[in-house]
Amino acid sequence: MEKKGAVLMEKYEVDKFLGQGAFAKVFRARNLETKKRVAIKVISREKVVKDGLVNQIKREITVMRMLKHPNIVQLYEVIPSRNKIYLVMEYAKGGELFRKILKGKLEEEVARNYFQQLITAVDFCHRRGVYHRDLKPENLLLDENGVLKVSDFGLSALAESKRQDGLLHTSCGTPCYTAPEVLCRKAYDGVKADIWSCGVILFALLAGELPFYDPNQTLMCRKICAAEYICPSWFPDEVKSLLSGILNPDPDKRILISEVMETCWSRDGLNYITTITEVELDADVGFDDRVNSENKELVDITSLS
Ligand code: ATP
Repeated sequence: MEKKGAVLMEKYEVDKFLGQGAFAKVFRARNLETKKRVAIKVISREKVVKDGLVNQIKREITVMRMLKHPNIVQLYEVIPSRNKIYLVMEYAKGGELFRKILKGKLEEEVARNYFQQLITAVDFCHRRGVYHRDLKPENLLLDENGVLKVSDFGLSALAESKRQDGLLHTSCGTPCYTAPEVLCRKAYDGVKADIWSCGVILFALLAGELPFYDPNQTLMCRKICAAEYICPSWFPDEVKSLLSGILNPDPDKRILISEVMETCWSRDGLNYITTITEVELDADVGFDDRVNSENKELVDITSLS
């Protein structure tokens, strides 16, 4: 068979550039043996070390290895080479849910279905001590069957990173979807912060716009901290009540994920069979001067872009 793209480890043929994040490029590829499509995230070691992101990448890998769920992008394998780290992941052909919202609000049943899948995945993460901390429609991908896949665990936190008070102390995430207590740089509970983001996503799915927005970031943060939003009158009553429970600026009064799951807006999503892979607490990707000698001949697929 004639080869169309660069080949990685004689195993993956790379054929398309999918996009670029802050420190990585993502390509589509095909497993030459199984013919299965995959997405390969190519991380530059040099950039990661220079930008002080080693721990962030290790955490992303550790977390992805821990999570095996139908609504979470699966990490198949990590291939370290001298200059790059390749994360071979499940390919989400349908792209970002964000693109769908850009076209306008979704039908109620469609929005409900995505929200159920999101809550199921987030609950799965929380039960394993993982907080995503950057939930937004750009990080929710769709596969070829429209199944939602949570991706981008680059800003996630593990329960071990909590201090003794059980709270997280790093401010991160995208302002529009960020909980007030995180914006105010207070110590916060990762579970409650993720639930807030799910509420903002629910609003955006149904309304086709954000609950809190202002071109002036300071004013937007003020709106978020006061939970100042207006539900369109046509939102179903159950959604209005669910949103008032989720978008409560006081995290102690915010609805629990177990309560969210009891509403019919997420109940049906509980039927997934889930498995968990073996937990590896520290991602060994050779940052500690170990380079897998078998990987020296890797083709530099980043030149494809
Ligand atoms: P950042 O990580 O800096 O927040 P980002 O989320 O855009 O930014 P990446 O996660 O590196 O960066 O993704 C880059 C692009 O590749 C995005 O457009 C994303 O939708 C796409 N992408 C990432 N993972 C997959 C995947 N598993 N399947 C299909 N497309 C993907």
